[in-house]
Amino acid sequence: MITSVKGMRDLLPPDTRVWNRLEETARNVFSLYGYDEIRTPVLEPTELFVRSVGEASDIVHKEMYAFTDRGGRDVSLRPENTAGVARAYVEHQMPQAGGVKKLYYVGPQYRYERPQKGRYREFRQIGAEVLGAADPATDAELLVMLFDLFTRLGFTGLSVSLNSVGSEESRPAYVEALRAYLAAHEGTMGEDDRRRLRDNPLRVLDTKDPALAAALAGAPRVLDHLDPESKAHHEELLALLDAAGIPYRVEPRLVRGLDYYTRTVFEVTAQGLGAQDALLGGGRYDRLVSDLGGPRTPGIGFAIGEDRLVDVLPEPFRRAAIEGFAPVAVVAIDPADRAAALALAGELRSAGVAVDLDPAGKGPGHALKNAAKRGCRTAVLVGEKERQSGVVVVKDLVERSQREVPIGDLPRTLKGETP
Ligand code: AMP
Repeated sequence: MITSVKGMRDLLPPDTRVWNRLEETARNVFSLYGYDEIRTPVLEPTELFVRSVGEASDIVHKEMYAFTDRGGRDVSLRPENTAGVARAYVEHQMPQAGGVKKLYYVGPQYRYERPQKGRYREFRQIGAEVLGAADPATDAELLVMLFDLFTRLGFTGLSVSLNSVGSEESRPAYVEALRAYLAAHEGTMGEDDRRRLRDNPLRVLDTKDPALAAALAGAPRVLDHLDPESKAHHEELLALLDAAGIPYRVEPRLVRGLDYYTRTVFEVTAQGLGAQDALLGGGRYDRLVSDLGGPRTPGIGFAIGEDRLVDVLPEPFRRAAIEGFAPVAVVAIDPADRAAALALAGELRSAGVAVDLDPAGKGPGHALKNAAKRGCRTAVLVGEKERQSGVVVVKDLVERSQREVPIGDLPRTLKGETP
């Protein structure tokens, strides 16, 4: 038996109904805010992630599916999608077209991490990016959109953790202060944290080591080292979120694991996810586009971990998605009735009724049991008598009741509009 690659999973029905409805809801919400979809390749030049996500990040350092293709190109499966969006933005001269670009994406990402619940090597993200807008009002509206989506999914009680990591100009002074503070703890650090301290001390704030995390309580805070513009940006954002009623918590130690963030960074965690409790992350990246060879262009975005979101979706949303899929079973009572059943199925589909035509021909009892298992809630039986009379039997498979309906009235009856 051949099984799927470690850390990669099949998404099966009926769960795929939930995934589809979730993506549909996200697309609808994004459209309401004027976002357009972008689809970028799964495979990108490795250099793209080295220059954007950063050489010293865990992702580029040890989690990329990087290889040389048959033409000798160094390529990687994308570990995230913001870099690809920024690359496309520059490559297709979108900055020159002027104005603000609002883009969203839905798709698989790849990281060679140690698989566990909520952490996979192939996982999916739903994300949105705004390019060309530096104003804190952009940050605020992005978060308003996120909460709009979560509200429509049925979530209550979520709150966003928020911080500012300052500008590229103010960062070095903070990094030095942090490095000086951390130097005293270097002796007790594990190998990973020592590497982070050497390459990018900000990363140490993300440490998984509880003793070091406790020692970080006294570390200098990036919020105390902001340049005046970043500080004003942060305060204006908080004021706008207050005004919009978006629940947030300022989290001075939140820095996020990717190199390209400037100013605003945020994360939403959810209970019920276990150790991997980050539902989404995002932030501002005012340097990314210019790092990729484009003109200096501010940007901000987020990425929702779709696999994790599906795991904590409120039950009513999940149930509606699963039960919303309920094709009508059309069952031929006898092999001689197959042509009539096929024709009836065609008529119903033309009228917009989803039909699951029983293919088995093993008799109505067998067919009805199977239809219920496949998610049908109603069945229409077609036999010799029905063909003669033009009246068919409609069975409610859940309530186990039945009634007779003239064939002409079927579409309306099945769509819930009783004639
Ligand atoms: P990041 O791109 O690292 O900021 O991640 C954004 C979101 O993607 C996280 O908050 C997670 O929900 C999700 N995510 C990241 N890595 C994984 C993974 N290996 N498996 C599943 N979800 C992930």
